Amino acid sequence: MERALQIINKLQREHDAGRDELIHVLKIDDSKPLLVAADKTRERFVGDEVHLRGLIELTNFCRNTCLYCGLRAQNKNLKRYHMSVGDVIKTARVAADMGLKTIVLQGGEDAYYSLEDICYMITRIKEFGVAVTLSLGEFPRYAYKKMRQAGADRYLLRIETTNKRLYGKMHPGLSFENRVRCLGDLKDLGFETGTGCLVGLPGQTYDMLADDLIFFKELDADMIGLGPFIPSPDTPLAHQRPGDVDVALKMVALVRLLLPDINIPSTTALGTIAGDGYKRGLESGANVIMPNMGMGHYKKLYSLYPGKMAGSPQQHLGNAKNIIRSLDRRIGTGQGFRAVSHSCFN
Ligand code: SAH
Ligand code: SF4
Repeated sequence: MERALQIINKLQREHDAGRDELIHVLKIDDSKPLLVAADKTRERFVGDEVHLRGLIELTNFCRNTCLYCGLRAQNKNLKRYHMSVGDVIKTARVAADMGLKTIVLQGGEDAYYSLEDICYMITRIKEFGVAVTLSLGEFPRYAYKKMRQAGADRYLLRIETTNKRLYGKMHPGLSFENRVRCLGDLKDLGFETGTGCLVGLPGQTYDMLADDLIFFKELDADMIGLGPFIPSPDTPLAHQRPGDVDVALKMVALVRLLLPDINIPSTTALGTIAGDGYKRGLESGANVIMPNMGMGHYKKLYSLYPGKMAGSPQQHLGNAKNIIRSLDRRIGTGQGFRAVSHSCFN
């Protein structure tokens, strides 16, 4: 334990560590000192505010076949939907009226929306005085550029795993190199860029997770979303073991220590796999919650994995606020960009 404590101290001071050091800390049994150090670093760099981002899951159509995901194209047992452009804008309006300062548009890779549609939604939603985050998958650079020009502020695209072999296995038809190209383009175009990984994918090791952490640091990601892998029915991984919550929390903590001023959500996957998952994420370095703004029938169909909480947008928002208050933290009042000194927003 002594070596682990030394590494944690170094992380608190220098926000850096070598691969072997990260692996060592990922393997410790008693994660308490790590989580406490991350919580202190969170307080010091981003304070007590927890930012709320209203999540709109606009489509469950997807052309891809990621092995872990319930929305994969080959899942024929799922009723598919896409929200109309008008419905997306209306839902965003309701969320903005509820006080949310960021709207996140997330969905499968769905050709139903043209680039013009996406840009139109961005422009209209920006009129509500909110920040707009997109999480719509891989696009060529010119498309990201148009989205940025239409006013999108942020983009989430997880690398999922930086191990090329595991990436190849999990993502038939996708290329690791193109994923990295997308992230580079997003950064370059001035998006606040979010990435992240799945924790506990079959075949994943601590060494691979350490490499993921190094990748996040090298990219200087502005947001990192991490969640435990949750086996989803009707996928090839339906009968695999789920990811370990404690390892996911250690990853959250290490991200906070390595990139002290970024935004880190306590993710839906954490909240789904453990009853107190959101709270534990917020106590381990996270400073963001993304309440679901979807209406009932859509939300059930957006089944990346099973077990998502039911409820109206109001209930999700209320629930998030209660968790924040129960921790004596404050609800974010602004749009919650990364600390101004780092902002590439122009
Ligand atoms: N299609 C877009 C956005 C929707 S998927 C994209 O892939 O980027 C959003 C995230 O859900 C993915 O990045 C993935 O990490 C996560 N996810 C998918 N299936 C999951 C599962 N079974 N367990 C946990 N997280 C999952
Ligand atoms: Fe599609 Fe995203 Fe699911 Fe992959 S993770 S199948 S890209 S929705």
